Amino acid sequence: MRQKVFNWGRYPQGDVDLLPLYYLEELDELTSKPCIARGNGRCYGDSSLSSQVISTITFDKALIFDKKQGIFKCQSGMQLSDILDIIVPHGWFLPVTPGTKFITVGGAVASDIHGKNHHTEGSFSKHIIEFEIYSGEGLHYTCSAKEHPDLFHATCGGMGLTGIITSVTFQLKKIESVFITRVQEKARNLDEAFELFEKYSNHTYSMAWIDCLKGGNSFGRSIMMAGEHTTLNELNAKQKPEALKLLQGSKLNIPLDLPSFMLSGLSVKSFNELYYHKILGKVKQDKTYFDQFFYPLDAINNWNRMYGKHGFIQYQFVLPLSTSRAGLVEIMEKIRNQGSGSFLAVLKQFGPQDGMLSFPMEGYTLALDFPFRPGLLKFLNKLDELVLKYHGRLYLTKDARMDAEVFKASYPNLGEFINVLDKYVPKRSFSSFQSERLFG
Ligand SMILES: Cc1cc2nc3c(=O)[nH]c(=O)nc-3n(C[C@H](O)[C@H](O)[C@H](O)COP(=O)(O)OP(=O)(O)OC[C@H]3O[C@@H](n4cnc5c(N)ncnc54)[C@H](O)[C@@H]3O)c2cc1C
Repeated sequence: MRQKVFNWGRYPQGDVDLLPLYYLEELDELTSKPCIARGNGRCYGDSSLSSQVISTITFDKALIFDKKQGIFKCQSGMQLSDILDIIVPHGWFLPVTPGTKFITVGGAVASDIHGKNHHTEGSFSKHIIEFEIYSGEGLHYTCSAKEHPDLFHATCGGMGLTGIITSVTFQLKKIESVFITRVQEKARNLDEAFELFEKYSNHTYSMAWIDCLKGGNSFGRSIMMAGEHTTLNELNAKQKPEALKLLQGSKLNIPLDLPSFMLSGLSVKSFNELYYHKILGKVKQDKTYFDQFFYPLDAINNWNRMYGKHGFIQYQFVLPLSTSRAGLVEIMEKIRNQGSGSFLAVLKQFGPQDGMLSFPMEGYTLALDFPFRPGLLKFLNKLDELVLKYHGRLYLTKDARMDAEVFKASYPNLGEFINVLDKYVPKRSFSSFQSERLFG
């Protein structure tokens, strides 16, 4: 049935035939027309929109959980939230997790997601043992770093264009408790923020909330947050017996699209001001439940409605180490002068790239939201020019508007990726509104 579908940024909206997948045997028929896989629609733009969409959210069974070795296999539509419910009580955790747990494993592979630990542990693909993929015309492949390695590296970060991932087997990481030992430290400006990334570079997890609207001596002021999984030794006698117990959190809800005046430059500035001062001293150390550390926004249902009915664009770019500082200064200045920056933006450090079209490269990434307003698209085109000037690129899973020239100039492995498509999907059976825009 034809229906309006949109992803997390609520822009763009597509008229889509949304076809649920239940059994592998249905794939031949479901993919008889060009189509794209969709997980839980937590990408922001049009990566999982097409006139025909195969929804994997109904294809979500756990298949194997080896509690000794920490190996997990599931169908591609299983969500990280459901996996956590199974593995955490047995002392295992996801090797890489994004800022929401409501994504599917298929989406994690196709976007080759990164977490707060990219600088220490790489992106999701680094922890995959193997996956199975249907590439159309009756062809199923098992892929790993050794088996069909070209298809493996093209699929990780390949945004669904190589086929429908049907199952994924990956390595979990051992934990002793549900807690994270967290340290938060204030940086008064961008230079201090870079110093803190250095200082905490040995921590498994790190990121900074950065205020993009503040100028002068406070330009780039941030709160750095670093963390480690809390060990049993760090817990007191009362906590130890319940070290691996899952906690149920309550949720706030945003039931309506908020009116646009709530997002004026003034209210965003006031919010950022309050946030920066939420830590009283310069440094704060505590233990927090893993949900609060990894998924603070999941505690607010439908927070994307906060940006009003026209939706928003999340702009996430990465710059290489050598240009990160200069590039961030110029791009953040432009955003500040334009005055439409978002609530706090997120700054993270990346290690080297993994998949062919994977987003991360060694350097720094900044992500911030722009509510949809007249003139926004033109303004973002100007930001793209700066990202290219500093040899960076944009994250495909957040993108809803980049043009083909910017894409081609910033993804150097594109030729290699197209060779893999020619070999495994010569009829280009999988395409999205995004791929039509970027590949032509
Ligand atoms: C609040 C929030 C925080 C986030 N934080 C981060 C973060 O820290 N790091 C990060 O990397 N990402 C982050 N993301 C983005 C998110 O992790 C990715 O967009 C992820 O791919 C979404 O998965 P999904 O299951 O919702 O897939 P969808 O959004 O439905 O699809 C995303 C892409 O995956 C493809 N795909 C989905 N399933 C399959 C399949 N079975 N086979 C082939 N292709 C498939 C789609 O075609 C599409 O190209 C965040 C998103 C939100 C909303």
